[in-house]
Amino acid sequence: MRADRSDRPALLLAWYDRHRRRLPWRALPGERTDAYRVWLSEIMLQQTTVKAVGPYFEKFLARWPDVGALACASLDDVLRMWAGLGYYSRARNLHACAVVVLRDHGGVFPDTEEGLRALPGIGPYTAAAIAAIAFDRRTMPVDGNIERVVSRLYAVEEPLPQAKPLIQQLAANLLGPSRAGDEKSRAGDEESRAGDSAQALMDLGASICTPKKPACALCPLNEDCVARVRGDQETFPRKAPKKSGTLRRGAAFVVTRGAELLVRSRPEKGLLGGMTEVPGSDWLAGHDDKAARRQAPALNSVARWHRKAGVVTHVFTHFPLELVVYTARVAAGTRAPRGMRWVPIATLADEALPNVMRKVIAHGLGL
Ligand code: SF4
Repeated sequence: MRADRSDRPALLLAWYDRHRRRLPWRALPGERTDAYRVWLSEIMLQQTTVKAVGPYFEKFLARWPDVGALACASLDDVLRMWAGLGYYSRARNLHACAVVVLRDHGGVFPDTEEGLRALPGIGPYTAAAIAAIAFDRRTMPVDGNIERVVSRLYAVEEPLPQAKPLIQQLAANLLGPSRAGDEKSRAGDEESRAGDSAQALMDLGASICTPKKPACALCPLNEDCVARVRGDQETFPRKAPKKSGTLRRGAAFVVTRGAELLVRSRPEKGLLGGMTEVPGSDWLAGHDDKAARRQAPALNSVARWHRKAGVVTHVFTHFPLELVVYTARVAAGTRAPRGMRWVPIATLADEALPNVMRKVIAHGLGL
């Protein structure tokens, strides 16, 4: 029997009750949802996969079991714990947000989208996700998974990102029924399942309505999915051609003094703010190798720099990067230039090293 479109929210929730994913931050059925866990996971999941986030989430929770504990941690400790997850401004905002929640809200997260959006690092999507999942507010946070499901379900022809407002509007149709006119329902209450509706769509996108070869036969919404009926599911969501950023190039200098490595901290503001790096040149589109070499750290005892074969490549959100790596060994007792320091190679894991620097060091040290 063909499902009526008004049944979609109920079909979705029934499917979710049977097939929901078990995730470390997700409350079990009947358990109270913890806003701290939801917030922490949502910040970590921005630009990062569920698989990569899992171990970090567990580590953070073990070390800082509530928002008050995280607020009292030092930013350095938070950055160190975050190292490897990428997009480090998230870690700074995470800490700043915990401080504000403790200082201005007595350690309790605001329970409205508006209140959440006023906090550091919480944009419209994250505010909607926390409001729906932690507080059952009737709102639909639209992530990549939900975009895919909705664009297929309704065969949205407009390409992303222009289609976002339309997809947002259509996704809201998939929220469970509201008790019209009821103040409590709008404010979130035990009868609202807005959080489950959102998580159901996320799970459907992650496990059934996948980018390639969606398992439509298992989908609870397959009877009136427009793209499935047409047979062109995989062509959704439509996307405008990608403009990739211009390639930037630079040089990195891996200097060892015995079993120690020369490092410095990046400026607090900007890309990879406050993270640890080996000294290096500027990263420029019009790279000039000689000019880059002139930015090598001033170390009198370096007789010559050895250029490692090959380059280290890394892709940031807005540009790809290629780094040439130079190495040198200096004598015991050589002082670190101003603003730099020696750290034992054996304790590098304790440094807030971004992935690009891990690659550079591994290349430079031949690890
Ligand atoms: S029927 Fe297929 S394409 Fe349509 S929403 Fe379900 S899994 Fe996605």
